[in-house]
Amino acid sequence: MKICWILVFGNAIRGPLGIHRAVRRRFWFYSADYRLEAQLEYLSSLRKITEEEITRFVAGLTMPAEFQPRSKAVLPPYDPNRLEFRILDHVGPVRRRSGNYWTKCPSCAQQGRDRSGDNLAICIADPRKYKCWAGCTREMIRAAVGCPIRTRIAS
Ligand SMILES: [Zn+2]
Repeated sequence: MKICWILVFGNAIRGPLGIHRAVRRRFWFYSADYRLEAQLEYLSSLRKITEEEITRFVAGLTMPAEFQPRSKAVLPPYDPNRLEFRILDHVGPVRRRSGNYWTKCPSCAQQGRDRSGDNLAICIADPRKYKCWAGCTREMIRAAVGCPIRTRIAS
């Protein structure tokens, strides 16, 4: 079995051959014609890196501070009776799958996207956690439902 590994450093680099969900565009390898067959041929022609080479390549490297994952905000335990913003009050019908509700992302819908109606995932166990898999930010989603996130102005 032949496996192709594409290393992606951050999300500034887009993998070829797929269609980016946020911009609905395909991003090609520049070194080959912009046809699928030529792209696959180019990809197949590249020398594969072994696991040993990768291990040697990254040995001793540390992640620069600016790229370290940010610590996540710690939420108090979910209390369905607490008065707070509830995304489920602002979205259409939802489907349940793999621990999440899935529904149309309001921000995507505003932009005429998410025709399949499943870009927004909302955690069933804690609906305060939601994510648009097409890349809309929490701020965009909140603005789209008419409940923008209040931001503090730095003084
Ligand atoms: Zn979205």
